Amino acid sequence: MEAVVSPQLQAVGEQPPVPVKNFQNDSTSYAAQLSQPKLAATSNLKNLKHIEVIHGVPTIQFSVEERMQFAKEHQIRTFPWSIGFKTNEETTKAVVWISLPNLPTELFAMKALLSIASAVGKPIAIDKATQTKSRPSTARVKVILDLMDKLPDKIKLQFLDKQTDKMVKIFQEFVYDNLPLYCNHCKHQGHDEKTCLTFE
Ligand SMILES: [Zn+2]
Repeated sequence: MEAVVSPQLQAVGEQPPVPVKNFQNDSTSYAAQLSQPKLAATSNLKNLKHIEVIHGVPTIQFSVEERMQFAKEHQIRTFPWSIGFKTNEETTKAVVWISLPNLPTELFAMKALLSIASAVGKPIAIDKATQTKSRPSTARVKVILDLMDKLPDKIKLQFLDKQTDKMVKIFQEFVYDNLPLYCNHCKHQGHDEKTCLTFE
């Protein structure tokens, strides 16, 4: 059974979101790929940058041309989405804001932001300050993630400079806001197995 959910889901303690309009994204997140290797092979990564795992760290590579394109881009798009659920269990999916502290300013472009955020889950919105670049210290993206996934705490971004043929690498940290716990015993959010009241 599948429910179509409005993209206006609110995360805990959130600011008004900027919807990500018409951005076609039926890809599987990097985090989901870790737990579902077969799905990863068939996932569709049409629009977002490909993420590969190098030495255990999710990694995206950008060209200099892309960085220049990102610097010009201001367009915002959304895409439709849905979540499957069972009535007697709470979903393991959660809507969570992630922060990207000290993200290089040209990577505030939509495709770059969504590609980076897709390492965590499915991006659905960015906040106003990120859109307007009024808070250069951090970018914020709202994602639907799976609490059962191994959520990465960083991503490696690689930039190939064709003129010098040098690879520039930076590690971008992920900060999760109000990430809920999930109890795999009673299948509810808000606590884990250690504090589950139904666990004997
Ligand atoms: Zn429980």
